[in-house]
Amino acid sequence: MAYCQKCGTEKEYPYGKCYECGFQPNHPEMKNNAVDEGGFLWGLLGFCVPVVGLILYLIWKDERPKTALAAGKGALAYLIFGAVVFVLYILFFGLLFTFAY
Ligand SMILES: [Zn+2]
Repeated sequence: MAYCQKCGTEKEYPYGKCYECGFQPNHPEMKNNAVDEGGFLWGLLGFCVPVVGLILYLIWKDERPKTALAAGKGALAYLIFGAVVFVLYILFFGLLFTFAY
């Protein structure tokens, strides 16, 4: 048994609407973004599989903004990392050939 937070009327479900005063408490599981923790793992997923990270970002940017951002940042980090590696690669071989001949 639960009691209404507003008027104290006894009611069946803790998150049910009060039939006495109509007060509707926020149900934690009724929110869409129940699991929107963001977090390192989503970033890691985005980094390892940037395409998935990008897709998750597009799917979740409204519903789970934190998680979407984490996955999107991972994908972005991958792109930056890839670009840096590419530039270093070009510079390395550029220098190698400059000094080789
Ligand atoms: Zn009530």
